[in-house]
Amino acid sequence: STTKTHDIIEKTEKFGAKNYHPLPIVISKAEGVWVEDPEGNKYMDMLSAYSALNQGHRHPKIIQALKDQADKVTLTSRAFHSDKLGEFYEKLSMLTGKNMILPMNTGAEAVETAIKAVRRWAYDVKKVPDNQAEIIVSEGNFHGRTTTITSFSSDEAYKRGFGPFTPGFKIIPYGDIEALRKAITPNTAAFMTEPIQGEAGILMPPEGFLKQARELCKENNVLFIADEIQTGFGRTGKMFASDWEDVKPDMYIMGKALGGGVFPISAVAADREILGVFEPGSHGSTFGGNPLGCAVAIAALEVLEEENLVQRSLEMGEYFKQKLQKIENPVIKEVRGRGLFIGVELTEAARPYCEALKELGLLCKETHETTIRFAPPLIISKEDLDWAIERIYQVLKK
Ligand code: PLP
Repeated sequence: STTKTHDIIEKTEKFGAKNYHPLPIVISKAEGVWVEDPEGNKYMDMLSAYSALNQGHRHPKIIQALKDQADKVTLTSRAFHSDKLGEFYEKLSMLTGKNMILPMNTGAEAVETAIKAVRRWAYDVKKVPDNQAEIIVSEGNFHGRTTTITSFSSDEAYKRGFGPFTPGFKIIPYGDIEALRKAITPNTAAFMTEPIQGEAGILMPPEGFLKQARELCKENNVLFIADEIQTGFGRTGKMFASDWEDVKPDMYIMGKALGGGVFPISAVAADREILGVFEPGSHGSTFGGNPLGCAVAIAALEVLEEENLVQRSLEMGEYFKQKLQKIENPVIKEVRGRGLFIGVELTEAARPYCEALKELGLLCKETHETTIRFAPPLIISKEDLDWAIERIYQVLKK
């Protein structure tokens, strides 16, 4: 007899493009750190939709904000004002310390916004000759899936068959300050980096790199852009991962948890000297900054504050990491990460381990073949975390 799960997956596979390879589980209900399949089996979510669910599934306050706003107005387009956008701007401005915000929907769109902003800044402010602006990025980067962003990926799987590519990008080894120094020219507009590389396998740059890179950029009139889409909003135990080195980027790129796992909303934050380069007509998005997204984002940010989720992430993450580091098994190459953003790198494929964990009721996903990423919602209780650790020990202990 076929199960509901089986039928649903069959239908999904039948009609869907094959650009993902999900674990064979259907989630039809969720609350907090727990999800449920159609047969009523419960699983703990240790992926958090790639860190978009920092506040947990269906946080009551965020869902309430969504419902309340849905009963008023959902979309105005930017042809008119909405009564939520200013409030959202103000909140994000206070949080980032930047005086201008530009809202979009997905992470990739916010990255595109950053690229357009710093290129314009290079021509209008820095006086780089027309069409010569360069942006420096890192090997192993992941900033999204548009054709331009794909152009500066170093991963062949992301690029094959998608050319011709957008020029104007230089790739340096991740965390290599000398390479950055050498790559900067008078035409360099910006250095864009993930403070911790997520998709590359939770890779941290050498200590001090972010601070040095920030200084180097300042000395050379190069903008420092932090892509905090995956690392922001408490994931790493600080509000932003850049905070680990007290770095204030010129520009923050944010997404994922900004929408509380409920609604896609992304944004770029920078000061007026940079984001001021946009005039009406130069950039935009029909849904960007819509009232539903703004209401959700305001609530999502309030939840982070009210529930002290940044501190929770730091404390729970430290506890979790120590437990993971105690596991003795030669197959474990390294346990690394910050806050509740932890990678366990193995000497062999990680997927079978993720499948074994799934059988025990714990959902996680391999990243870059050999690393298991553990990134539960930041609301996770100590009790739930211990439940997870028990299962991870069962699977990983030799
Ligand atoms: N930048 C980083 C660091 C990310 O981790 C991601 C998504 O994983 C993106 C950008 C792209 O975001 P989106 O999938 O919302 O376009």
